Order: sequence, then C-alpha cells, then structure tokens
Amino acid sequence: MSLDASKLTITKTTNSKTPLPKEQLVFGKTFTDHMLEVEWTAENGWGAPKISPYHALSLDPASSVFHYSFELFEGMKAYRDTHGKIRTFRPDKNMARMNRSAKRAALPQFEGDELLKCIDELLKVDEKFIPEGYGYSLYLRPTLIGTTSSLGVAKPDRALLFVIASPVGPYFSGGFKPVSLQATDYAVRAWPGGVGEYKLGANYVSCIEPQSVAATKGHSQNLWLFGEEGYITEVGAMNFFIVFQKDGKKELVTSPLDGTILPGVTRDSTLALAKARLDSSWEVNERKITIHEVQERAAKGEVVEAFGTGTAAIVSPISNIEFHGADIAIPVVGGTAGELTQQIEKWIREIQYGDVEFEDWSRV
Ligand code: PMP
Repeated sequence: MSLDASKLTITKTTNSKTPLPKEQLVFGKTFTDHMLEVEWTAENGWGAPKISPYHALSLDPASSVFHYSFELFEGMKAYRDTHGKIRTFRPDKNMARMNRSAKRAALPQFEGDELLKCIDELLKVDEKFIPEGYGYSLYLRPTLIGTTSSLGVAKPDRALLFVIASPVGPYFSGGFKPVSLQATDYAVRAWPGGVGEYKLGANYVSCIEPQSVAATKGHSQNLWLFGEEGYITEVGAMNFFIVFQKDGKKELVTSPLDGTILPGVTRDSTLALAKARLDSSWEVNERKITIHEVQERAAKGEVVEAFGTGTAAIVSPISNIEFHGADIAIPVVGGTAGELTQQIEKWIREIQYGDVEFEDWSRV
C-alpha cells in the first residue's frame, strides 16, 4: 500500500500546552502538542497516517534502529507570513532528499506529496506553536527508522516514519555573529562512494567529537576537508560558499555535489538566486576549492567573504579559518557579515516569509 494522506486520522490532545514566550525558545528543546506517525511493513506497505498527542515511542530493544543505524531524517521549517498564513519552503526538495536517503539506507520510500499533505494537517493542528516574526519558525523533523526486532544484519521489514515539530527563534538573536572554523583533515566526514550526500543520522555522530576538539580551540565548527589536495567539502552541518575577487570580477563558489556533500536546499536556493539576480560582474560556480587556494588568495587579498548555508541559520558568516595552526582571516563587513552574505539572507528570507514570490518555492 502506498502512503495515502486521505487515510489520515487525527486524535487531538486533551491537555494542550501553552507555547513558550518567543524569547525563551531554544532550538529543538520544546515540541508541539502533536506528532505524525506512519508505520510500514514489507508485507502491507504504508499504513494509515495518524496525528496524535506527542508521546514517547515504545520499541523493542532489538529494533534495527538501535543496532545498525537504520535512521535518516530531514530538517525543514514552517513560517508564519505577515498575513498569518503558514508557509513551508521548497518542502518537495526535502521529500525528494528523504526518499534518496531512504533508498540508500534500505528503508522504504514513500509518496512525498502525500507526506506533505499530512504535514500540512499537523501544521493546522499545532498552528498556535508557529511563532510570528522574521527569524521565528516551526522546525519540522521528519524521521524514518527501521523497527524490525531482530539482530540479523538485513534490510528492515518494519519501519516507522514520524514527524515532530519544535518552535524556534532566530539563529543569530542579536544580528549576525561570524564564526571561526577549524579546517579539519585528521577526521573525515564523508568520502566518494560513502553516504555523505544522504541525511543519515550516522553521518552526524562521527562529527561531534572533532567539533568538541575545535571548540576547545575557540572555533564553533569544523571545515571538513577531503583528500591530500585538501578539498573543502562542508562547514559543520552547512554548505560552504566563498567569494573571490580578481581584476574587478567576482566569483561565488561552492563545492560540487560529488557525493561527499549534502545537497542542501539552501545551497540550491543560493545558487539559483545568485544566478538569477547578480549582475554580469559575477560568476557563479560549482567547482572544487582547496584550503590552499583559500589560504593563498586570502594572503593576496582576493577573498571577499565566505559563509555557510543551511535551514537553521539561512546563512552563517565566516570570519576566520584555522588550518594547521595558522589563521586565515576572512573579511566581514562591519564585523557582522559580508555584503553578499546579507543579500542572500534577505532574498531567501523574503521568499520564506511570503513577502516575495519566486517560482513555486513557498507552499502555503
Ligand atoms: N550539510 C549538512 C551536513 C547538513 O546537515 C545540512 C542541514 N540539513 C546542510 C548541509 C544544509 O542543508 P539545508 O540547506 O537543506 O538545510
């Protein structure tokens, strides 16, 4: 059976919570009243989706999720526009990415449109938790786990897809705060032929320890390098962008999707908007960049700005990269964020909050 939103059942809580005041929101700490669940079995396919009060899961300790990391997830947001309407941003992209992850993780694929219809219903039921104002949103966490109760290393024949939601405030509450990165090559996040381009939970666990090491040196994220050449892949859980300037020409560059990089929705949006809206003094390129190119060109004054992109912050300005003990200073205008960094943030935010329409990126 395929995933069918028309079979959705809704059981509302009798014990509704009061949403926290906006200024007390901490990312991913508090959740809405309800959650969405859909069970899958190899025998019968997808069951009827259900929305019910937020609750703990009861799973057999032998469940495949606990032993072999049969887990993948998505990160997306719902925004309240100035007319009070609720919008999601390019959610079809998240559904497509989730299905690619599911295929790679030997978990069942599903009809993305149908899940989006169910998510729309969850948003209606939990509408009071969607805060208003720029920077405020409801973070949605669709998750898929293998639930087969067996230690056999095999494709799960049972799975659970669930969606929980957490109200969140601005990533940078007091305006942009540029970050310092540690260019990391002693640990590797992803490699060709691996699973770095899929949003599997297993990709994150191995990054936490190197992140704590970077933190002890005062850096907030790792800049993940790959290979002897020192290719830049991603920054923390964001995609990496840099602006070079030479002879009056500017180049916006991000690393190509070669299998070692998560295809970010914000990355794709940044590229599309930059190509559509920047003037002819700009080139927009997906090409390999090495840490050495950044180091050499920064020394020559050819680096204009750099930033990370992701759903959480939209953009995150970068002010410094430490590589093998040497600091590479990256310019930031007025100590906050480069010009293009600020421009991209505005362009994307305006579409997310429905102030500007761009293609069909905003789903009401
Ligand atoms: N890279 C990684 C490793 C991530 O976890 C994320 C966050 N999903 C991103 C990049 C940015 O992706 P998106 O723009 O879709 O949030």
